[in-house]
Amino acid sequence: MAPLLEEGIKIVEDELHQGGIDVSWSKITSELKKSLDKDTFQNWIKPIYFESRIDTSLTLSVPTRFLRDWIIKNYASVIKKAYMDQGHSIDKLAILVKENNDRIIPGTEVIYEDKDDEEDTYYDDISAPLDPKFTFDNFIVGKPNELAYAASQRVAQSEVVSFNPLFLYGGVGLGKTHLMHAVAWNIKKRNPKKNVVYLTAEKFMYQFIKALRFKNIMSFKEQFRSVDVLMIDDVQFIIGKDNTQEEFFHTFNTLIDKKRQIIISADKSPADLDGIEDRLKSRLGWGLVADIHPLTYELRLGILQAKAEHKSLTLEQEVIEFLANKITNNVREMEGALNRLAVHASIQNSKISVDLVKDVLKDLLRTNSRKITIDEIQKKVVEHYNIKLSDMHSPRRSRSIARPRQVAMYLAKSITTRSLPEIGRKFGGRDHTTVIHAIKTIEEIMVNDPNLAEDIELLTRILQTS
Ligand code: ADP
Ligand code: MG
Repeated sequence: MAPLLEEGIKIVEDELHQGGIDVSWSKITSELKKSLDKDTFQNWIKPIYFESRIDTSLTLSVPTRFLRDWIIKNYASVIKKAYMDQGHSIDKLAILVKENNDRIIPGTEVIYEDKDDEEDTYYDDISAPLDPKFTFDNFIVGKPNELAYAASQRVAQSEVVSFNPLFLYGGVGLGKTHLMHAVAWNIKKRNPKKNVVYLTAEKFMYQFIKALRFKNIMSFKEQFRSVDVLMIDDVQFIIGKDNTQEEFFHTFNTLIDKKRQIIISADKSPADLDGIEDRLKSRLGWGLVADIHPLTYELRLGILQAKAEHKSLTLEQEVIEFLANKITNNVREMEGALNRLAVHASIQNSKISVDLVKDVLKDLLRTNSRKITIDEIQKKVVEHYNIKLSDMHSPRRSRSIARPRQVAMYLAKSITTRSLPEIGRKFGGRDHTTVIHAIKTIEEIMVNDPNLAEDIELLTRILQTS
C-alpha cells in the first residue's frame, strides 16, 4: 500500500475510534465472550466502555473504581493482547471511571503497566498472604464461636486428619478468616515444611481462569494437588460458576483421597448454599460443620474489652457496655469503632464519655440499629402481658387483649419502618385506619398513665437490645 494511502486510511480509522465506536473493540469483545466463561464476561468485560484509540494509545472507561482496578489487574493484559492479535499494537492502555457512563470523574485514569513475567510466574504463589494479627491468641472465645474455635485448634494441632473437611460458616465479620489464618500460622510454626495454602474462592476461580487462558491447566492442577493443607475462604463465591465448581470439586476429591486437610468457609451451611451442585454440597458436609453464631452480648463485651486493652485505650465500663449494646453485627465494626475512639482519645485530652461516643460514631450507630420485625414485637408484647400470640391476630376486642394489641401496633410504628397498611396486615389483616386509631389511643393514654408509658419504654428497650 502506498504510504500516503495508508496514512489516509489510518486517519479515517482514528476518527472511527472515538466516541464509543471501534470496529476492533467490537471484534475483541465478541472474541472474549467466546473465550471467557459467562460470568466472567458479564462481570468484567461487559461493563467496559470504549473511549478512544489514537495511534497506539487506547482509553477505556468503566462505571466504578473497583472495576477499573480489577480490570487493570486481571484483564488489561488480555485486552492488549487481543488488540495485538487484530494487528494493532497498543503502547498505552488507560482506564478511567465514568459515572453513569456519562461523566468522567477527573483524576481516575489509571494506566496499565506490563508485567513481562506474568505468564511465567502466575502460579508461583497460589496462597494469599496471612495476616499476622489473626492468631489463636488474639481470638476471643465465647458460646457463639466455641465449636468453630475448638475444631480449628484441633485441626491445627493434630497430626492425623480427623475430620475432613472442616467447614466453618457464619455471617460477615464473625471470625471465619481469622480462624483459618490462625490454623495456617500454627501449622507453619510447628512444621515449616508443610505446604499450607490459604486463598479465597474468588482467587481460586481467577487462578483457574488464568490457567485456562494460558493453557496451563496441568500445572494448575499439580499446584493444587500437591498441597498439604488447603483452605478456601468464602466458598459461596463460586455459586453458579460451573467450570470453577467442577475444577474445585476435583481438587477437593483428590486431596480428600490423599488425606490432606481441607478447611472451607462460607456464609451459609453446605445445605443452604443454593447454586452449588448437589454432589459438591454433600461432600462439603462430610466432615465437621461448625457454625459461628451471631455474637452474644457477653462475647461482644469480651471482644471490646480485649481489643481496647490491646490498643491501650482506656474505656469506662459504661462506654464498653454502650458499645456492646449498639454494635451488634460484627467484630470488624467493633474494631472500626475502637480505632476511631482511639484517634479521638489521642488528639483530645478529655475522657471518652458515652455522649462523645454517640457523636463520634453517629454514622456507625445508625447503620447498626438492628432491624426489628413486627413478629418480634408481637412476641415480646405477648410475653409481657401474658396473652396468646393468636390474640395479636384475632378479631377479639376485650380490653385485656385489645390494649396489648394496640401497644404492639404502636411499637411497630415507632420502631420499624413498616407502613400503616403493612402493620395492619400483620395484625390479622386490619385496616390502616385501625392502626392509626391504635397509635392515637396509646399516645393519649401514655400522657396520663405512667404505667403504660413505662411498659412502652421497657418493651422498646428489650426489643432494641435483645
Ligand atoms: P469473617 O471472615 O467471618 O468475615 P474475619 O475473620 O475477617 O470475619 O473477622 C473480622 C475482624 O474481626 C477481624 O479483624 C478479626 O480479627 C476480628 N474478629 C472476629 N472474631 C473475633 C474474635 N472472636 N476475637 C477477636 N477478634 C475477632
Ligand atoms: Mg472472611
